[in-house]
Amino acid sequence: MKILKFGGTSVANAINIKLVKNILQKNEGTKIGVVVSALGGITDLLLVTLELASKQNVNYRNSFNEIEERHLSTIKKLFSVTTQSSVLGKVKAELNDLETLLEGSYLIGEATPQLSDKIVSYGEILSSFIISEYLKVEGLDVSLKSGRELIITDEAFGKAAVDFERTNSICENYFNSTVHKITVVPGFVSSSHSGKATTLGRGGSDYSAAILTAAINAETLEIWTDVSGMYTANPKLVKQAKCVSYISYEEAMELSHFGAKVLYPPTIQPVLQKSIPIIIKNTFAPEDEGTKITKNNNDQGKTVRGISHVNNITLLSLEGPGMVGIPGISKRFFETMSLEGISIVMITQASSEHSICVGISDIDAEQAVAAVNKAFTYEITTNKIKKVIIESDLAIIALVGDNMKSHQGLSGKMFSTLGRNNVNIRAIAQGASERNISAVIRKEDVKKSLNTLHETFFEKNIKQLNLFVMGVGNVGAKFLNQIKKQRKYLQEELKLNVRVIGISNSRTMAFNENGISLDDWQNFLADGQKANPNKFIKIVKELNYRNSVFVDNTASDIIASSYSSYLNSSISVVTCNKIACSSEYSNYKELKRLAKQFNAPFLFETNVGAGLPIIDTLKHLIASGDKIKKIQAVLSGSLNFVFNNFDNNTSFHDVVKQAQEEGYTEPDPTIDLSGVDVMRKILILARESGYELEIDAIENDSFLPEESLKTSSNEQFFESLKKYENDFQKLYQNAVQKGSKLKYVAQFEDGKAKVGLQEIPENHDFYNLDGSDNIVLFYTERYANQPMIIKGAGAGADVTASGIFADVIRIGNF
Ligand code: ADP
Ligand code: ASP
Ligand code: MG
Repeated sequence: MKILKFGGTSVANAINIKLVKNILQKNEGTKIGVVVSALGGITDLLLVTLELASKQNVNYRNSFNEIEERHLSTIKKLFSVTTQSSVLGKVKAELNDLETLLEGSYLIGEATPQLSDKIVSYGEILSSFIISEYLKVEGLDVSLKSGRELIITDEAFGKAAVDFERTNSICENYFNSTVHKITVVPGFVSSSHSGKATTLGRGGSDYSAAILTAAINAETLEIWTDVSGMYTANPKLVKQAKCVSYISYEEAMELSHFGAKVLYPPTIQPVLQKSIPIIIKNTFAPEDEGTKITKNNNDQGKTVRGISHVNNITLLSLEGPGMVGIPGISKRFFETMSLEGISIVMITQASSEHSICVGISDIDAEQAVAAVNKAFTYEITTNKIKKVIIESDLAIIALVGDNMKSHQGLSGKMFSTLGRNNVNIRAIAQGASERNISAVIRKEDVKKSLNTLHETFFEKNIKQLNLFVMGVGNVGAKFLNQIKKQRKYLQEELKLNVRVIGISNSRTMAFNENGISLDDWQNFLADGQKANPNKFIKIVKELNYRNSVFVDNTASDIIASSYSSYLNSSISVVTCNKIACSSEYSNYKELKRLAKQFNAPFLFETNVGAGLPIIDTLKHLIASGDKIKKIQAVLSGSLNFVFNNFDNNTSFHDVVKQAQEEGYTEPDPTIDLSGVDVMRKILILARESGYELEIDAIENDSFLPEESLKTSSNEQFFESLKKYENDFQKLYQNAVQKGSKLKYVAQFEDGKAKVGLQEIPENHDFYNLDGSDNIVLFYTERYANQPMIIKGAGAGADVTASGIFADVIRIGNF
């Protein structure tokens, strides 16, 4: 014999029930017991309806109508017109009884646990009836046997304890004597010795099935659900989770105890005693192999088998000097909890005996506090023990595996993984069996923690980076395109999975939690919500992804001022925007400090020389003990373009205009022409070299006339360039006469920086600098006479985008 259990989603509607029938038809040879849950969602709905009724809220009727409608429509879709009337009649009669009970609760404004069990049982009573009738109509040899007759319990309503002696003998007798091939049994429901309706706890249909399986010594228990087995983590929260083929009873028990809902925790016990295997199968993909739960997990190599979590946890701690060395305090504490019927999910006790700390469900917190404070009234009033302290809205996350005990360093790996992602750990416990390590964390951190731990323990070296990209103009668009092209290489060669989760321009912003398609991001963004940088930050933080990276491709000061809010949530920042790093030194320093404190890199390679590895090289020089003595550089791609194209055949105005149109200048060209942009760059290089410098301290010998510098719009600026054309021509002539070229040079020496236009003679390193190229000469202690030279394209969207890309990859390797 076999027992098959079908969960709520598997029987949620007519289409799914037909799938169940197909599975049962394949099993025709053997005698089987089929345990069914209520139609998916009905149990919750019944509880909500009762809650409304007992609060005398008339809306309970709408809720009841919904329950009625779900059942009647399922029947109508499942049965032909000729066969449905008797089923409808019976179900309507049951629903009438249910309505009467609800009305009673509404009238007296009360719901006892006993009434609640009676009402909530209707879900399974109705589903089992409908399904058994349908199977009969389909020609299967079926009988219906109520769980209330088969499973006998005490009267702990809501989660009754089974009387196994009675239950086993009733089940044995029934299944031995039944002549039908299939017996349909409603899960979850049971009755007390005196015949009152009881239930086995939420998710209890699994348990009903296990009880029957053990009682009749069936050969297997099949749990048919909506996933293809037990996964390394909840597949709804961790996309990369993998189905586990084999797992031991103990591992399955630990995982379900810590929240793997796919199996109700008490389910294992009855079958374990008889070593009957459990197989978890997917109703919607019956061909999938599923997970086999047996004595041994059949997989020696693996240490961690799964990661699970329980939400809505409260930490309750009792502490005080009066606890040290006094025997019996723990006993009294746990006795109190047990007498209140409060189950303890996790225990941690400090080795100093100074405190006891336990994790319980949020819903039990109030009751637990009152009970413990009462039990220790004497100690509290005499200051030996402090009043109970609680902290709610937490979650427990647990690593589980039989082989964990023989491996060192797992907890270190677990906690450093969480720490790196800014997950604050409130308490830790390791079961004596060393089959689990669990940690209490904030509820908001659950998804991030599951994913990051999964990455560490199951996804051999693949690291996921989650990008939030602000600014998708020229540079941003190129950047997204480069990611698209390189994605496969990054995955295969660098083991990096780069996903873009959010994008924004100045008009709209859009997010996709599973990653935005880079084939069609333009339309996706256009359909997004109104752009708002503060809301953008809020969403990034709420999503709370591991390895989050904020990428700023704008030139906006508002965006630059938001970096600290990202960094202090452990979100890395990559930017080509120079404003933050060239603002007050204190701000630059603070951003660097936050990056260190929160383990979130702050990278801005493209601030100087676009994609050229200038800052990175500088960092390596300094890290290896070198000292910067002098920097000489041509750092403005825009000014280089301008002076390389300007001669006596062109006008200065036209060349600047062309530079602007071709994207070589900032949108406001005065930022480049006045030298401010170069000042920012040399300032950043000086700071990165370890010098404390402010922008005001940089000498700027401007070649522009006062009037041009003071203009307040682009039109005015260009007008002024026309007016002073002669002056510009003079600058050019002077240089040419000496055989020199004009270059805008930045210099840093002895702690001082200056920028300005210079006439560069033919033998100088700067003389042959083409187009928009940049060049930097680093004179250091090691490179004292011959400088280290970095030269190449220093402006343009493509190279800037690739510099940003390189920073993102640096974070991936961090
Ligand atoms: P049923 O209604 O069939 O009893 P449940 O909703 O009770 O189904 O359990 C199945 C669900 O358990 C899955 O849809 C999944 O979201 C959740 N789950 C949590 N952890 C795990 C895990 N480690 N492996 C598989 N499923 C899990
Ligand atoms: N229907 C019950 C519940 O939702 C029992 C079950 O489905 O396992 O809790
Ligand atoms: Mg379930």
